[in-house]
Order: sequence, then structure tokens, then C-alpha cells
Amino acid sequence: MSEASIKENLKEIKHRIKIACEKSSRNPEEITLIAVSKTKPNEAIIEACTAGQLHYGENRMQELQDKMERIELPGIQWHMIGTIQSNKIKYIAERVHWIHSVSKAKYLNEIEKRASSANRTINVLIQVNISGEDQKSGCEISDLPKILGHAKQLEYVQIKGLMGMATFTDDPEDVRHEFALLRTTLEDHKHFNGNNIELKELSMGMSGDFEVAIEEGATMVRVGSAIFGSRNYG
Ligand SMILES: *Cc1c(COP(=O)(O)O)cnc(C)c1O
Repeated sequence: MSEASIKENLKEIKHRIKIACEKSSRNPEEITLIAVSKTKPNEAIIEACTAGQLHYGENRMQELQDKMERIELPGIQWHMIGTIQSNKIKYIAERVHWIHSVSKAKYLNEIEKRASSANRTINVLIQVNISGEDQKSGCEISDLPKILGHAKQLEYVQIKGLMGMATFTDDPEDVRHEFALLRTTLEDHKHFNGNNIELKELSMGMSGDFEVAIEEGATMVRVGSAIFGSRNYG
């Protein structure tokens, strides 16, 4: 993809975010656009940065580590959005700003340990299974009190909200209720707020369904192919 088209795509996505916000009486400034750059070369990220895009999401820890080490631009923020491997947290802890995909207390312990060594806090979202599909990652809603109760004892882990992946579908209207479920789940657990827990962010919505996610309360949308073009894998 040429520089112009990444830039154009970003402009188009931001416009669509604005329309979705107007439709649902929300302020577009409440929405963080995370450009999901997995499988894409560093040059694509640098092009997007040049167009003013600061948030990037990666779903493989090794790839995230490589990109964070090679691309150091002022203001850039890195989001880990894929499957967590406990033994690799130490490699990303010095640079990652957000980890969206935490579904177990044991990962929180490892993030705490590594963030503490790096003497920096890391923002964490708990991934919840909202699709009801067995193979989808994320904890069950009923696991949340235990995970949040555990997180309360930590210091370097800053819990900021919830993340969810909707069922893959051609018609985003089919998954509106899944986004709504994540939103009510966030509301239902706000009594955990205090100290290092601030349930506020809702990371939901991808290229095919981010507008519906915004209408249902998303504060972070993770958009890959609509910005960088389609992928062969990942
Ligand atoms: C790949 C990925 C996305 C972005 O998907 P697109 O359909 O390309 O926008 C969002 N979230 C997660 C967790 C992903 O792995």
C-alpha cells in the first residue's frame, strides 16, 4: 500500500468514527483508534505515524517486541491484543503501554513482577468471552470478581477496563448484543474501582464492526485491515 492510501484510510476510518459518534450522541474524543499493524512492515507503521496515528496493536508478543525495539517515535503507544504467553511478558514489559488480552490472574502476577522490575506501570484490560463460543479466548463473566479482587492487591498493574471479541459475522448487527453485554458487564463491576482499578475502557470493534461497537459504548476500537489492507495470515 502506498503512503497516500494508509493516510486516506485513516482519514476515512476517523470520519466513520465521527458518524457513529453522532448517531449515538457521543464525543469522538472518547474513542481511541488502535491501528492493528500485525504482519505489516515497520514502514507501514511509520507512514501511519506520519499521518498522526499514535496507537498500534499487535497480537504476537515476539512481533510486538521487535517492532517496539525498532520503532521509537515520540508519543507512540503499543497495545498487546493477542494471546498472552507468560514466559514472554518479560520481553515486552519495558515498552508496552496496554495489554488487552489478560484472562487469568496468573498473567496479572507475571505482569506485576515484570512491570515492577522495569519500574513502570502497565495498563491492563481483562478480556471477556462475549461470543459464547468455546474456542474464543477470554474469561467468563463469572470469573471477573475473582480476577478483579486479585488485581486489587497489585500496584504496577493498572486495570483500565474490558476487552471483547465478537463472533465473526457478515452483518455486524448480529453481534450488537455481544457489545452491549460487554458494556453492561463493565457497569456491573464498577464497584471494584479504586486504587489501581478504574473500569472505564471498553476495547471492542474491529474493521467489520467498529461502528456498531461505538454505538454500544466502545472507547477503544482495534482496526487493522481497513487501515493497512488485508493480511495473508494473522
Ligand atoms: C487482527 C485483530 C484485530 C483487527 O482485525 P481487522 O479485522 O483487521 O480490523 C482486532 N483485534 C484483535 C484481537 C485482532 O487480533
